[in-house]
Amino acid sequence: MDRYSSQIIDESDIEAVIRALKSGVLTQGAAVEAFENALCEYTGAKYAIAVNSATAALHIAYLAAGLGANDEVIVPAITFAATANAAIYCGGASVFADVDFTSGLIDVSAIEALITPKTKAIAPVHYAGSLCDMEAIGAVAARRNLIVIEDAAHALGSFDAANKSAGSFGAMGVFSFHPVKPITTGEGGAIVTSDAELAKKARLLRSHGIARGDLWEQDMIALGFNYRVSDLNCALGVSQLKRIDKTIKRREEIAALYDQAFANSDRITPLKTPPKTRQKTHSRHLYPILLDSAIDKTKLFNKMREKNIGVQVHYKPVYSHSYYIKRFGERFLPQSEAFYRRELSLPCHSALSDDETAFVIETILSD
Ligand SMILES: *Cc1c(COP(=O)(O)O)cnc(C)c1O
Repeated sequence: MDRYSSQIIDESDIEAVIRALKSGVLTQGAAVEAFENALCEYTGAKYAIAVNSATAALHIAYLAAGLGANDEVIVPAITFAATANAAIYCGGASVFADVDFTSGLIDVSAIEALITPKTKAIAPVHYAGSLCDMEAIGAVAARRNLIVIEDAAHALGSFDAANKSAGSFGAMGVFSFHPVKPITTGEGGAIVTSDAELAKKARLLRSHGIARGDLWEQDMIALGFNYRVSDLNCALGVSQLKRIDKTIKRREEIAALYDQAFANSDRITPLKTPPKTRQKTHSRHLYPILLDSAIDKTKLFNKMREKNIGVQVHYKPVYSHSYYIKRFGERFLPQSEAFYRRELSLPCHSALSDDETAFVIETILSD
């Protein structure tokens, strides 16, 4: 219980990786393709490009979307830094939108005012696994001719009421397979898309930008990277993805226990998630709560950690990191600031027992 999220590695995962080790092909082999096919089947996307992290996936997704020098991507201020950093890798910049304090999701009403002639894309983040209002975001993007790239790093396993997967609403969706995320490949990420052109570009950029011709013929047609992921990682991914329904079900059970326990608390407010009529399944990558402003978060955090309960805070507004302040100056977005002050993520993962969940509840309610 010492972490807010954790993977489970079972015997079938171990056997899958051993089989990959014995296959004789450690990278660019059949396991990579099998993982990509499984991701397509699971998300309903036509193409999946597996890479070695979601950060790499974001970088080449932005490049494939045409992001270049001086172009801008609109991102929520409450996210992991990589969502914003990847725009800077492309020579562009991130423009921060405030979030809705009650849900942690990008405030859609704030987007339009941030659009300039430099804006190329919007990168909404399905924070904690909650789906952003993709219809509203899609409408703004269509009206202003912008590309939508979903940062779905938290959200593999989140489906809307019409059975559409996170990552399949925009032109591209990005997943992370870091061990704290819904499924893991050790390190890893992927882009999913149903656009053949974007898939082709992303695939090219994943491997040096080199196109292969006949015999020894190679031609580097773009400045690409080595963002490839090995067959060992992908064999683990295939095995993990087979169990995702079970994993998500357990995370949802734990979330329901928390919901029930905090329903009548006037000091703890569970983060608002979309209603079942809009979002059918929720990856529950995080279970964030908002603490009443009278609660001393530092004290509570220390108390929980002393009891070996792996609470965490997600996230510091990206614009307030020193690098961003030095390079782009000070910013202040009121809802993001309030969110950072009051948010706390409780352990929520499939390795957590009912007893452990009860202990977390008891500890926090007895504060
Ligand atoms: C984890 C995460 C990433 C980066 O994922 P890596 O696979 O670790 O590179 C990007 N965006 C969000 C929102 C994340 O939580």
